[in-house]
Amino acid sequence: MSFAVAIDGPAGAGKSTIAKSVSKRLGVIYVDTGAMYRSMALYLLRNNVNFENPDEIATVCKGADITIAFEDGVQQVYLNGENVSSLIRTEEISRAASISSAHPAVREKLVDLQRKLASTTSLVMDGRDIGTNVLPDAKVKIYLTADASVRAKRRYDELTAKGEVCDLAVIEADIIKRDRQDMTREIAPLKQAEDAVYVDTSNMTIPEVEDKILEIVSQKQV
Ligand code: C5P
Repeated sequence: MSFAVAIDGPAGAGKSTIAKSVSKRLGVIYVDTGAMYRSMALYLLRNNVNFENPDEIATVCKGADITIAFEDGVQQVYLNGENVSSLIRTEEISRAASISSAHPAVREKLVDLQRKLASTTSLVMDGRDIGTNVLPDAKVKIYLTADASVRAKRRYDELTAKGEVCDLAVIEADIIKRDRQDMTREIAPLKQAEDAVYVDTSNMTIPEVEDKILEIVSQKQV
């Protein structure tokens, strides 16, 4: 029987790093649902959609066929047949995804894909609404978070390591804005599921968080 580990939390809390390593240790796939919302945002941007216009978003999003595949165990996202995995990691897409993901037509499409995946295989899935909405029966639910300043610094370090010039204060303001949008939207807002374990990673190293999550998973006897 397949099982699911659901990891939710705000941007930059370390979800994908942790979900990747936990899925490896458990020998199951890792599904990054944020990548699906990012691919949809890329499609909407390419189609010059007015992000203030919900009707336009609802109509245009119908033309996006988003699928995922696993190559060497790593998730690849395809948008109408094109592998867009490396195109969706920009700040512009982060902002656009946070706006477009609040729209019902976008969510319906992607939640359906996420549930189909979870019905066929065991997985670790991360996002904003996995434990509360996509997979309410997930065997393990984690709410992973950290202070906004810590999350911003992690993102800053990531970008500067790649040689990008960026401003820590701007990154922090962006993160706070995205959190607010994700937490206050009407449909499937980001919040801790009642049965999720709360883990604050502000003062934890990556190995410490991994150990903590694996301990929670083993307590649930996955
Ligand atoms: O996780 P990531 O930062 O890649 O997600 C990008 C955006 O997609 C989030 O800010 C959020 O608005 C949206 N998202 C969502 N539900 C999910 C995953 C991501 O609304 N399950």
